[in-house]
Amino acid sequence: MSTRKTAFTEPAKKSLGQHFLVDRGIIASIVRAVDPKPGDRLVEIGPGQGAITFPLLDVHHELTVIEFDRDLIFPLTEAARAHGTLEILHRDVLDVDFTALANEGVIRLVGNLPYNLSSPILFHALDHAPAITDMTFMLQKEVVDRMAAEPGSKVYGRLSVMLQAYCDVIPQFDVPPAAFRPPPKVDSAVVRLVPRDPATIGIDDRDLFARVVRDAFGQRRKTLRNALSQVCDAAMIEAAGVRPDARAEQLPVADFVRLSNRIGAT
Ligand code: SAM
Repeated sequence: MSTRKTAFTEPAKKSLGQHFLVDRGIIASIVRAVDPKPGDRLVEIGPGQGAITFPLLDVHHELTVIEFDRDLIFPLTEAARAHGTLEILHRDVLDVDFTALANEGVIRLVGNLPYNLSSPILFHALDHAPAITDMTFMLQKEVVDRMAAEPGSKVYGRLSVMLQAYCDVIPQFDVPPAAFRPPPKVDSAVVRLVPRDPATIGIDDRDLFARVVRDAFGQRRKTLRNALSQVCDAAMIEAAGVRPDARAEQLPVADFVRLSNRIGAT
């Protein structure tokens, strides 16, 4: 006889960032925000106990999920039977090649992400942006605020520039701790990311762009002349049409693109 548990009996695991959504209204709003269309290839990161998975399956009938917690795999398999066709990848999402998963097509990502891994997951998804139509993610509200921040804002930083360079960042709605079991200590928010057409991004060298942005915000109180001293001099910054005495937090995304392209062109 099988000893595998068919029900979701395990307590939430803090180490895996498990905060399960229980608010039906919020779950319905997420499904509406995703708005699956026939033929969409939906991939959910971290299905947990299926709070979003099963309502999505009910409207879309087919879904791939990526879940790291082995204790959830069998109960998910069992519970999914009543809802639709669920493909479960028992993997660490950071090891999943989204481009290969898209199989020369495109995928749409969805997820109430483990908050301890949200930045690595976002950067991992950016690496595969051409294979991704859009992403609808639940994150800490503070992270969504940083992702969508504009130059001059206190929270405008590396995450804002890196994400906005490659995607449209569209905050959707806020979610209070009471929507989850167990409740997280922080407010959450749902955000939609739509990768830009690669032809319009204009970044010549992605690694150099990432380095320039990282160095510029590494010491955000420093002028660009000082913060970027390892990659270029003041003359180069001026040649890109940027003031060397400006600070990273004042610089629009387009200026970072121009600056890194200028540095790369020498
Ligand atoms: N989607 C469910 C919900 O909304 O109730 C669960 C969300 S919970 C915040 C995050 C989920 O991500 C958990 O199921 C957790 O086990 C899973 N997870 C954590 N780290 C992961 C990883 N590296 N790869 C894949 N899944 C992971």
